[in-house]
Amino acid sequence: MVQSSNKLWVDLLSSKYVKGSTFLLSGNNSSGSPTWYSIIQAKNILKDCFSWRAGSGTSPHTHILYTQLPPSVSDLINNIHIKFNDSIDNAFIWTSNKNGSYTTKSGFNWLFSLQNPVTPHNPSFSWSWIWKLQLPEKIKFFFWLVCHNSVPTLSLLDHRKMNLSATCARCGLREETFLHCVRDCDFSISIWHHIGFDNPDFFSSMDAHDWLKWGSTGSKAFIFSAGVWWSWRNHNLMCLNNETWTVDRVVKWNNNNFSGVILNVDESCLGSPIRSGFGGIFRNDSGFYLSGFSGFIQGSSDIMLAEPYAIYHGLSLAEDMEINEFVCYSDSLHRINLITGLTLKYHVHAVLIQDIKEFLSNRNVSLCHTLGEGNQCADFFAKHGASSDVDLFIHASPPECILDLLRSDAAGTFFLRE
Ligand SMILES: [Zn+2]
Repeated sequence: MVQSSNKLWVDLLSSKYVKGSTFLLSGNNSSGSPTWYSIIQAKNILKDCFSWRAGSGTSPHTHILYTQLPPSVSDLINNIHIKFNDSIDNAFIWTSNKNGSYTTKSGFNWLFSLQNPVTPHNPSFSWSWIWKLQLPEKIKFFFWLVCHNSVPTLSLLDHRKMNLSATCARCGLREETFLHCVRDCDFSISIWHHIGFDNPDFFSSMDAHDWLKWGSTGSKAFIFSAGVWWSWRNHNLMCLNNETWTVDRVVKWNNNNFSGVILNVDESCLGSPIRSGFGGIFRNDSGFYLSGFSGFIQGSSDIMLAEPYAIYHGLSLAEDMEINEFVCYSDSLHRINLITGLTLKYHVHAVLIQDIKEFLSNRNVSLCHTLGEGNQCADFFAKHGASSDVDLFIHASPPECILDLLRSDAAGTFFLRE
């Protein structure tokens, strides 16, 4: 606006809002579009670094100098040697740059050189915590938008006259502010409860910036950040794509948030001729690796055998490790029903199933169903078993290529069920 007077958009805004005056000297009439409001805000901050430089000495604004001055002031002015040149226009120059031209980079550097103290009352300079978070860039950028009150919630759109109502489109009960949208709406509350945030204090903070900072730098930072992201995605899918979306579509490892030791088991059939294998992994509820196993079933291509084999070997290994209380997740509802249901005395693997039943009846073990997305580490061991020639191999430490999966499970990463 100051130095690009030859641009069409500058002409447009100048004739609409500035009306013949000079932009830097014009009033602060910020009524108008949000764009104009932002420009006025920027001008008020940046104008201190602009300075007037005479050129030809003729300008529509020099008339403000034609006024009676006290002799001491006019003497002072007369003693200053201002050079004029008809081919140089009078102009406002940007004093933070050697060539006097304003650039975004130079403006940014100048703002930082002011070294404003970071205080809760000066939040515009306290975003660095966001960029330090160990999160995907898209989530950090989303947090940054939140802290600038720029997330397009209905409340914001209504404020900018871009939507007819600020009322939440999902529940229809409250104004859709950012906090209502991702935290307080019933749909969002169910997500937070589902991933273990059910303390009433969690829902009490009234400031989005403080709440985000508290959650994303606290002890459950990863789960919290994923919760904010998926809560927002849930809102968008429901409101923009008309998708009905329930928390059942969001899956993670140990989806039921059990505490104690967690066993995941799986089976796998690979190749042609088919080779069947099984595998499993023990972790504590923080995702810390305790042990793993994998095996190949010689001479069998029978998935019906591989299923109970996986669980049988898991239970045996638990006994060796003296773990008598744990939760066992399997992604096969069929396998779970086979074991927890009535004995099928004519089932081809009835003996193996009966062994498992007896084992379970003497110990405190819960069998639980998970979707495949929450059982990926066990799937890895099962495939490993099917492609090996070893009847049973105990992995005292995790293989190198499963470390990424382990980390993502431990971080509570969510997977969207296909
Ligand atoms: Zn709502």
